[in-house]
Amino acid sequence: MTDIPKTCKAAVLVEYGRPLEIQEVAIPKVEPRGILVKVEMAGICGTDVHQQRGELTIKSPLPNIQGHETIGRIVKMGEGRTIDAAGEPLAVGDRIMWAHADCGECYWCVIERDPVLCARRQGYGWAPPGALRGGFAEYEMISPKTNVVRVPDELTEEEAVGVGCAFRSVVAGYDRFGKVGFMEDLVIQGCGPIGLYSTVVARESGARTIIVVGAPANRLELAKRWGADHVIDIDEYKDPEERRQMILELTSGRGPENVVEASGHPPAVAEGLEMVMKGGRYLILGQTSAAATPIIVSRINEKGLTIVGSVSAHIVHFYRALQFIKTNRTKYAFADIVSGRYRLEDVNEALANMASGKEIKAVIDNRDR
Ligand SMILES: [Zn+2]
Ligand SMILES: [Zn+2]
Repeated sequence: MTDIPKTCKAAVLVEYGRPLEIQEVAIPKVEPRGILVKVEMAGICGTDVHQQRGELTIKSPLPNIQGHETIGRIVKMGEGRTIDAAGEPLAVGDRIMWAHADCGECYWCVIERDPVLCARRQGYGWAPPGALRGGFAEYEMISPKTNVVRVPDELTEEEAVGVGCAFRSVVAGYDRFGKVGFMEDLVIQGCGPIGLYSTVVARESGARTIIVVGAPANRLELAKRWGADHVIDIDEYKDPEERRQMILELTSGRGPENVVEASGHPPAVAEGLEMVMKGGRYLILGQTSAAATPIIVSRINEKGLTIVGSVSAHIVHFYRALQFIKTNRTKYAFADIVSGRYRLEDVNEALANMASGKEIKAVIDNRDR
């Protein structure tokens, strides 16, 4: 086994709106049940762009190491950690992914039994550099209370990396939403990673017509390959009323039974309320902004709508997302979501290209380090 260095490189957010700084940071001691991993691949999320600019509802303390969708290779395991959340044995050299750590003791963990809502949730990508709990680094420290899951051997990092944020959030979202009814129609607003994974899961759930509304064209192209029957390019059809008419024509004149908001764009919610069928259901998955937006509230009661919100996920959703990819990897090219690979030193360029929409999913690729 290679010796563990005393320090490693990390990209540190020192001030909101300023480029991340590459710093040499200390690697902490591995506690019992803790795990030190070498970061193999760290996905960059739309949330990272907003976090770096200080635009999120939940702000991270500064300084901070960002990166919350990471695949790590185990370098050292603390005493007492021998298996993953699914009971698979863990060994040095295995690749793992991990959820936020929930406390297991608060009202939401114990009474509600909904650990995603834990009052003392310990996040990754939200901690000061001393904790080494962010993916934009060469190494990352997994805390003792964090549940981890082994990445199946047959998956490439490119196939698996989206599980770290978008895909597990989609699995958790559909979990709260309940099943998409057999042969029901579904509109997905947004074609970033959350919209794309929402598409492929809906396809495999027995939906009838799946329509994806978004931009740019390269993302919509991938949405088609991942199961969308129709796509509506918002760069081409800029008027929400025109889009609603197109959707009505594609959904027997009634609108879809299900709408999934995966855009992160607050005004999309007003549009979603207009397009969803009377008696339909609306899943809000993509929003992270603190910005307010006007909606016609009476649409909700007049149409008898059910609105479900969901954010983040628990380890079960990571596990199921990985199993979904393992089961369907010959049918869908899951690796195609990774559109650009960057060195850690080029993280600011990667963030800029995520912000501009040039990348579907940019990743920090440390694999040859
Ligand atoms: Zn994310
Ligand atoms: Zn808790």
